[in-house]
Amino acid sequence: MHRAAVGGVLATTGLLSLTTLPAAAETERTTPDCDNVKCVALTFDDGPGRYTDELLDILDENDAKATFYLLGSKLDSYTEEVERMVDEDHEVGNHTWDHADLADLSAGEIKEDLDRTDKAIKDVTGQMPTTMRPPYGSLSDTARETIDKPMLLWDVDTLDWQHRDPETTVDIAAEETDEGSVLLFHDIHETTVDAIPDVLDTLSEDGYEFVTVDEMMGSEVESGSAYSDARSLD
Ligand SMILES: [Zn+2]
Repeated sequence: MHRAAVGGVLATTGLLSLTTLPAAAETERTTPDCDNVKCVALTFDDGPGRYTDELLDILDENDAKATFYLLGSKLDSYTEEVERMVDEDHEVGNHTWDHADLADLSAGEIKEDLDRTDKAIKDVTGQMPTTMRPPYGSLSDTARETIDKPMLLWDVDTLDWQHRDPETTVDIAAEETDEGSVLLFHDIHETTVDAIPDVLDTLSEDGYEFVTVDEMMGSEVESGSAYSDARSLD
């Protein structure tokens, strides 16, 4: 918890120097066995952004793992946050360079956009993203044929970007989540980050464990196919 407090101070001052943070979590995490516990994947799109560091503090305090679908164009401004995601065992995925509607692009343009974003993520994390999420959930036949990663959609849309109300975000998450759900949020909105402590509390009370997309579905998803949740794998 000491670590979270340090992160909070950094977030409010905006002075990011992660070299001052203690290096590793106190205890090794055991990955939940999603065959025996109710797993869900929280996913955060369109970042990283100015509230991402605070979100990482909240996730850390609750030992919750999440998946971040990043825009390549934003990485340069938030490299510390992206390094922190990977250091703290969150998953990082590709959400295109600048939120293009892939249904409007040619095969060559799609490939160029996703490759550029993959490279930007790998430059920061050292790892290639294994899954991608199409902006707006929009896919053409060309996009489906071109994209050589699993395409991760969602089954619980909190509409956080639209209503910008933390209580509504919590209510939708509580009402619509089921075992194996993939929940969609956007950490570029302060109102979304404000909702996350209650989202975690409420879903924890219902017995859910928070894992990455890879932990929940990684061994079963295939390149070039689209998935909305873990139930769609059965
Ligand atoms: Zn998006």
